[in-house]
Amino acid sequence: MDTTVKIDARDVNFWYGDFHALKGISMEIEEKSVVAFIGPSGCGKSTFLRLFNRMNDLIPATRLTGEIRIDGENIYDKGVQVDELRKNVGMVFQRPNPFPKSIFENVAYGLRVNGVKDNAFIRQRVEETLKGAALWDEVKDKLKESAFALSGGQQQRLCIARAMAVSPSVLLMDEPASALDPISTAKVEELIHELKERYTIVIVTHNMQQAARVSSALLIISSFITLERNFMVPILRVTMFTSPNSTPSRSTISSC
Ligand code: ADP
Repeated sequence: MDTTVKIDARDVNFWYGDFHALKGISMEIEEKSVVAFIGPSGCGKSTFLRLFNRMNDLIPATRLTGEIRIDGENIYDKGVQVDELRKNVGMVFQRPNPFPKSIFENVAYGLRVNGVKDNAFIRQRVEETLKGAALWDEVKDKLKESAFALSGGQQQRLCIARAMAVSPSVLLMDEPASALDPISTAKVEELIHELKERYTIVIVTHNMQQAARVSSALLIISSFITLERNFMVPILRVTMFTSPNSTPSRSTISSC
């Protein structure tokens, strides 16, 4: 089966000041797949994830070498419009962070800030997106209510819907279920599973079982985690590298 590379990281190094946080990471992520970054706390999972929509640009005294290409374009090239990049590469954080607005306006937000004025279009897009985020049936009768009135799990699916509303092709999720109860976690995982039909999803998790449930490939950021065979289901290419405190060594894992 033909595969298309969506995200291509080549020899990525990243520093916070003098601290060398990421050392020589190379990997390719296939279009419309879910890839999980897993590894011990502090090994650099979130740092690497945030490079994909240039969120680390906001942190002073940081430095990047290497390349990250999305759809073939180096997203760190001078001409890249960061706003456009972030529309294409949406982000969902660890804790649900809805805006202090209604459920409807949370989803409409990205459209409005991008200048969409057609209310009929916005209504249609909000409905479509909430359906896509498996939340419509739970909120359709209370769209004008505050997003804070929703449960934590519903708020997180609302945040996923908010990211989806501006039609990204990549969704980044930084431990999206870690603040949720088991039932809400299951719903978010089910949603991630459905969304991979339409999006390329990169998820940070510290939970190996969750990674195995939702993802088709893993990037293991550690020198000591043992790979189990069923975690290496169809993958394009994953490069393993060592923890920041040890000498980098690499080996390429092929599909089983
Ligand atoms: P993980 O997501 O795997 O827990 P992080 O990417 O958050 O790891 O952090 C990787 C390393 O970079 C850690 O040692 C952390 O302390 C450091 N780090 C993360 N964010 C910053 C920051 N804003 N400034 C300085 N160091 C940071």
